Amino acid sequence: MKLLLMSTSVGPLGSGLGGGVELTVLNIAFELHQRGMKIDVVAPMGSVLGKITVIEIAGELQIPAQTLDRNIPIVMPGDSVLANMWEYARKNQAEYDLIVNFAYDWLPFYLTPFFITPIAHFISMGSLSDTIDRIAGQIASQFPGTIGVYTEAQAATFPFASECKCLGSGIDLSLYQFCSQPEFQLAWLGRIAPEKGLEDAVAAAQITGIPLKIMGKIQDENYWQKICADYPQAPVEYLGFLTTAKLQAELGKCKALLMTPRWVEAFGNVAIEALACGVPVISYSRGGPGEIVRDGQTGFLVEPDSVDGLVGAIARLDEINRRACRQQAEAEYSLEALGSRFEHWFKSILDSKLAKH
Ligand code: UDP
Repeated sequence: MKLLLMSTSVGPLGSGLGGGVELTVLNIAFELHQRGMKIDVVAPMGSVLGKITVIEIAGELQIPAQTLDRNIPIVMPGDSVLANMWEYARKNQAEYDLIVNFAYDWLPFYLTPFFITPIAHFISMGSLSDTIDRIAGQIASQFPGTIGVYTEAQAATFPFASECKCLGSGIDLSLYQFCSQPEFQLAWLGRIAPEKGLEDAVAAAQITGIPLKIMGKIQDENYWQKICADYPQAPVEYLGFLTTAKLQAELGKCKALLMTPRWVEAFGNVAIEALACGVPVISYSRGGPGEIVRDGQTGFLVEPDSVDGLVGAIARLDEINRRACRQQAEAEYSLEALGSRFEHWFKSILDSKLAKH
């Protein structure tokens, strides 16, 4: 199989601006490459992806959908990197069996019927735009089986939920070390942006007095400054945006990962990264984490938006066996399993295309 993977257009791979989908693109590219497939990745200029070939494309980045109102018309910058990436795909499509779109954007859905090479769409976020949902829904019915998502909870945010194929996520477990003896500290990971609700984790750290290590890309500087101003006494430390190697080393030393999303988190790659290190996950019980965390066994699912809920769960952390966390990651979130699910999905798309001709 020859695949052309079209990355997110909100940031270069490796920048952190794209969030969890950056890791998902990397993992799928790496695993399918290992399986002998030809994999090329198209991504914005400045992208880095280890030993996989990245075709870097110039142009202005797309504005992330979560920063826009859900009912506004589609916004495109003048020299759009998204449009330039798809122009590359159009010109080179004959070299590939399948094109895989990882961007939750209007243009790739709109272009799908104009391409000769079939296109699979992996949506990495919950519904954020009526206009994108409308075109994605049209593609879902015109090209059945071509829309993939992470979780059922994410699929349920779309009007075309029943057409979505749930593929979960997975990570290279060999990169995450199990740590049995944490230090007296908690972790919070991710893009620092309003939809991630970091202030609730900071409030919980202040109430419990347990230091909170914060790691991730500051995407919204004003939001971050407001949290710092609102909680000047909270025992928090910002470690920066870390590589996977450094991230897992810091994360492993923590008693738990706090996940405080305000939105319906599509998956939450950070949850499985924590489990892989043996770190229990305390999360609001909504979206992807609600399908990942085994309440009382590998973490706790608490009432959404309740800081008291977080504090109550932190007090119960001794009930969790960290080995069980690592075991869950090994049983459910290996890269091999992820690769098999995606390979199977791609084959089914190609088979149904063949059947039509
Ligand atoms: N991440 C990272 N370095 C950091 C903090 C986070 O590389 O210091 C990565 C993490 O590995 C994960 C992503 O940022 O892949 C966050 O993704 P998640 O799915 O949790 O949320 P999203 O940003 O997609 O909403």
